[in-house]
Amino acid sequence: ADKPLPHPEEVLKSIFGLPSFRGEQAEIIRHVVDGGDAVVLLPTGAGKSLCYQIPALCREGVAVVVSPLIALMRDQVEALRQSGVRAAALNSTLTQEEARDIREALTAGELDLLYVTPERLASDGFISFLARVPLALFAIDEAHCISQWGHDFRPEYLQLGRLKERFPDVPRLALTATADPQTRDDLVHRLQLDDARIFSASFDRPNIRYTIVRKDNAKSQLRDFLKAHEGASGIVYCLSRKKVEETADWLTAQGILALPYHAGLDRSIRDKHQDAFLKDEGPVLVATIAFGMGIDKPDVRFVAHLDLPSSIEAYYQETGRAGRDGLPSDAWMAWGMSDVSLRRRMIDEGASPELVKQVERTKLDALLHVCETATCRRQALLAHFGESHAGACGNCDACLTPAEMWDGTEAARKALSAIYRTGQR
Ligand code: ADP
Ligand code: MG
Repeated sequence: ADKPLPHPEEVLKSIFGLPSFRGEQAEIIRHVVDGGDAVVLLPTGAGKSLCYQIPALCREGVAVVVSPLIALMRDQVEALRQSGVRAAALNSTLTQEEARDIREALTAGELDLLYVTPERLASDGFISFLARVPLALFAIDEAHCISQWGHDFRPEYLQLGRLKERFPDVPRLALTATADPQTRDDLVHRLQLDDARIFSASFDRPNIRYTIVRKDNAKSQLRDFLKAHEGASGIVYCLSRKKVEETADWLTAQGILALPYHAGLDRSIRDKHQDAFLKDEGPVLVATIAFGMGIDKPDVRFVAHLDLPSSIEAYYQETGRAGRDGLPSDAWMAWGMSDVSLRRRMIDEGASPELVKQVERTKLDALLHVCETATCRRQALLAHFGESHAGACGNCDACLTPAEMWDGTEAARKALSAIYRTGQR
């Protein structure tokens, strides 16, 4: 009576319209289709979604996908439905009726993928309900959210550790682009994935050029950077909502079309600005970190930071939104000591327990180390993820502008002679 289950390659071609797997996708998918647990540590843009979406279609039952953001779920579900996949999202935005329809579809075996929030999946009622539904797998996306070592801890994720006991026979797959050794060990342990196979690849993004400059006149430094990228699509990250708005206004006044995005704006305005950005040659989007997770725009040509991020992981995730299409792209950041003091104050005055604050300080210091390094940035970044890179990458400011080329003495001489001249007058 049941249709035979398709092979991963067939699904890749017929449903997703893609000619071949990338990197380790084929191996991860085979492992999960065969019923294995997996931890997938691959950089942003590597194609982690297919690693659970395809097994969902190649195994009996529904795949339950945990995702931290409702907007992200909505986009994925919409894209899947357009490809003819039976997908739905169960979250707090649904009416009771809609939620009931989804539960009925689940019981009737009419869904291939179900996206849920971690809160929902953790609830006792929902777990007992799921126990009566044939399950293909559990996928825990953005799995670093379970770790306090990670940069995006969500307490709701902690409950997901129970899945192993409640569903011992259902394969579980944790996915993240954050993989410093501490976060990785912590998430493996908390999700009880100690026996899972770990799939990881280099976190290097060779097409991204890293440039980190000291703030001098940050706005005009940013303007000069943007002028050099006219017509290209990109994101400028600022720390506060106020600064987002000011920066977007200022850039627009300078003749650079820039739109603000932050969680304080009306939903309709946010959506409008996001949609404009997603168009082919959209405006520059000036945003807080409320923007970005799950955004799938392959041709983002640059990510600029006008403020210091909280950690290397955050910096890497944010800059990783550039150049997913593999073409040359820029990660540019301006930072100053005032950023450092501000970040330190945010940690000191934050609500985290002291132990977590200590971790946060260490993470900030690790990022400062990358900012202050005079040698290859890529090498310093990758070292943080436990990877050794030979250095001299040829595609970061340190490698492209070696220290001896930077004529500090010339600048000092000019400054001195200016003082001297003033004194003579
Ligand atoms: P991640 O979750 O790892 O950041 P996504 O799953 O969002 O990455 O995929 C990033 C982009 O790569 C998407 O546009 C996706 O369609 C594309 N992609 C994934 N796998 C392949 C593949 N095998 N061939 C071509 N494009 C792919
Ligand atoms: Mg993803």
